[in-house]
Amino acid sequence: MKTVADYIKTIPDFPKPGILFRDVTSVLDDAEGFKLAIDELDKLLDGVDYDIIAGVESRGFLFGAPLAYNNDKPFALVRKKGKLPRETVEESYSLEYGTATIELHKDAIKPGDKVIIIDDLIATGGTVEAAAKLVERLGGEVVKMIFLIELTDLKGREYLKNYDVASVVQYE
Ligand code: IMP
Repeated sequence: MKTVADYIKTIPDFPKPGILFRDVTSVLDDAEGFKLAIDELDKLLDGVDYDIIAGVESRGFLFGAPLAYNNDKPFALVRKKGKLPRETVEESYSLEYGTATIELHKDAIKPGDKVIIIDDLIATGGTVEAAAKLVERLGGEVVKMIFLIELTDLKGREYLKNYDVASVVQYE
């Protein structure tokens, strides 16, 4: 039987020389791969009590929205600055070169909401930490962070030691 890892393609030297890029579009290219990915992510939520799933732009949307649909939960979009039309909270975080800013609609999370954050991949954990800060600023509680892929050498899990972090496929 195939596993999710069988559908993930690894692209050397993308987007820069020396980077091994883990490509999740190859999971979506295959109906069985996509279904398997959603099913495996779903298992990470077994027994977890939560109100809403928040996905990080843009690949977090691809996996987060079907997961929310499957579980009869709402879905909140954490977007890059300037994309959300209503009042937002924003958070900046460091990238390898420079910074990025993400936003969440102020009314997307209600105080006391238990929130799952999802992205396609965790590397250093900086992106998802910024997403967690947005949720927390609105009074939400991040009950779990889930990812299709975890790059373990980058130690995102250690960086986010105050959160419950889980992933489907791990690479060094
Ligand atoms: P972090 O903030 O260092 O954890 O980086 C995670 C973010 O970078 C996620 O939003 C990913 O989509 C993206 N990312 C980093 N490396 C890869 C990769 O190899 N494949 C796909 N996305 C990646």
